[in-house]
Amino acid sequence: MKKGINVVWLSEVDLTNLNSGEGESNYIDVKKYKKDRVEYPYVSGQAMRHYFRDAIRRTTDKYICVPDDKGETCGDIEKCIGCDLFGFMLPKKGSGSSVRVSPLKVSPAIGLLSFEDNSTVDFLTRSKYKEIGEKTGGDIVNVELGTNIYKCGISIDIERIGGEEVIDDKERKLSIECGVDENERKERIKLILDAIRYLSDYSKQSRLLTDFTPDILVASVQNRYSHRLQKALEIDENRNLNVNRLKEILEDVMEYGEVYFGMISGVVANEEEVRAIIGDGLLNIDGEMISIGLGMEILTPNKVLKKVMEKL
Ligand SMILES: [Zn+2]
Repeated sequence: MKKGINVVWLSEVDLTNLNSGEGESNYIDVKKYKKDRVEYPYVSGQAMRHYFRDAIRRTTDKYICVPDDKGETCGDIEKCIGCDLFGFMLPKKGSGSSVRVSPLKVSPAIGLLSFEDNSTVDFLTRSKYKEIGEKTGGDIVNVELGTNIYKCGISIDIERIGGEEVIDDKERKLSIECGVDENERKERIKLILDAIRYLSDYSKQSRLLTDFTPDILVASVQNRYSHRLQKALEIDENRNLNVNRLKEILEDVMEYGEVYFGMISGVVANEEEVRAIIGDGLLNIDGEMISIGLGMEILTPNKVLKKVMEKL
């Protein structure tokens, strides 16, 4: 059985504010991290998981429980795909708690271009009305907005979809007990892959309609469980994709899995170089081969996800 699926992608966004930081009441900032003293925006892993949950809820009629007033979910992984895919922590009667680690791992979405060089501060007014139709001005709220290229990724632990680790006390060994059949497991994995194409329920969309779905995407179906593919995509400040890195990581993962590459046009500056390294190879200006290509087909992100579904 296949052990893992990894997907990592880049998504270019127009002016938006996908995840606000602490901020103040009249200043809505963007969540940021610092790398070598330069600030970049990011969307937390928790927010990304919410987007996935919402996208899955939108695309399926399968049962996903709604947390009760204590915030507790049903915990029935056979019946409830929400509890199965996203895990839970429930207090047990007596003592302790029952914990399920999510078999779907989601990375934060990391902005790769400096925030300072790719942002603005917009303002909006919260209008106040004395009586119907009579405007009396309002509070001004400033909102940080940025355009960027984000990197996001997921990893699926196939064996643990619909399955749970059980300890055999007599034999002192660990095994995974599966509560759903093979078909149901595949259905659930397909829902996750499909969700990548339909991520849309981010915050502040009424004013900042944003497409945050993949523009460049790499996916693997692996015979080993690893997160290595997550390092495949790296761009510099001039929007050049690091093709040496791409090749190194893909070759690495190809030793234990099948890898697919998808890209739409106009996202990275060195698109021709990327096409060459994925395809036949990179030539210098004299037409000499300087790096042998991976001999892969260049698909669209959407087609890559379909290929992965076919391989399950
Ligand atoms: Zn549930």
